Amino acid sequence: MESEDPGQTACYFPVAKDGEVLYVLKVILCDNQRLMDSDVDRIIGIFSNVLLLIQEKDRGFLTGLHNRMYFIKIMTTMDSRAYSHLAMLDIDHFKSVNDTYGHLIGDEVLIHFSGILKNSFRREDFKIRYGGEEFLVIIKETESRAVEELLNRFRKKVEAYNFPGIGNLTVSIGFSTISGTANLYETSSNSDKALYYAKEHGRNIVLFYESLVREGKIEVQVKHKSDITLWD
Ligand code: GH3
Ligand code: MG
Ligand code: MG
Repeated sequence: MESEDPGQTACYFPVAKDGEVLYVLKVILCDNQRLMDSDVDRIIGIFSNVLLLIQEKDRGFLTGLHNRMYFIKIMTTMDSRAYSHLAMLDIDHFKSVNDTYGHLIGDEVLIHFSGILKNSFRREDFKIRYGGEEFLVIIKETESRAVEELLNRFRKKVEAYNFPGIGNLTVSIGFSTISGTANLYETSSNSDKALYYAKEHGRNIVLFYESLVREGKIEVQVKHKSDITLWD
């Protein structure tokens, strides 16, 4: 411990791997604040999650999930006949997590969320972090009703999960059928439309694009020849 500005004290925590110090974590305490063991555990926990995110930049993975580049790659290489559905998942009101608790805690939520995602789907389903707090699951040949059940089970798991320091969060999900003729980009855009509808209609729900179209709730967009898609 050393003194900083008047009223401040700095503590340093070496973070070592295989006997070598890789990082030094500096914590500044203000106005006679005291550091309890539980605070140290919490700080180290958050820090190790941040390290995972830093490493993710190099590896292109977030705690074992594939990233968007991977999705772009498999769009052209995967055998789409072996997969039946594509789901887009988006954490509800995630911006307010960052605004209320800060980005570090927001990052930690993403890691916990990714963990639930990994454990909720089969090994052969593709689980992808598509963007900041948006995820994508490509589901191996399964009947639509069973997919809806699977996604709802995941949604309920998230709803019941106690995110450290935050409590409860919810997720909205849109999914659609992977057809033999459409490419994965079109399929993801259909799922996105169902997700958008879910966001507009209460959040914390799973909606099926084809059902929404059948019920006249969303319109099918006619694809024009001149439409540009990057992944055809
Ligand atoms: P909605 O329910 O409509 O989805 O609301 P939202 O607040 O989740 O959606 P919005 O798209 O407005 O905000 C997403 C936020 O996600 C904004 C951005 O700062 C945050 N975000 C994106 N990537 C990361 C990340 O890697 N870490 C953290 N902490 N925040 C991120
Ligand atoms: Mg979003
Ligand atoms: Mg969101």
